[in-house]
Amino acid sequence: MEIGAVVKGGSGLLYKTGNWRSEKPVIDYAKCTNCLICWTLCPDSAIVRKGNNVEVNYDYCKGCGICANECPVKAISMVKEEV
Ligand code: SF4
Ligand code: SF4
Repeated sequence: MEIGAVVKGGSGLLYKTGNWRSEKPVIDYAKCTNCLICWTLCPDSAIVRKGNNVEVNYDYCKGCGICANECPVKAISMVKEEV
């Protein structure tokens, strides 16, 4: 790819980043207010909407922890991956 090239929208679907993770986000639905902040901020679009809830698509979640840091009610915990 050339420097400064514009990447076609949706190309991230081709690159599964889930195997980069050492920790995974786990949502506590008893605390979640469905504010969608995590859905907005996830850099890999790995938070998806399912019905009235948000879910993590672990195929694309790289474990950066942004969602857990930014959740206003601390409904997301980062849990160590089992190896
Ligand atoms: S940021 Fe937190 S409260 Fe908001 S939808 Fe995500 S998990 Fe739920
Ligand atoms: S840990 Fe990072 S990549 Fe995974 S869902 Fe949260 S914000 Fe997205």
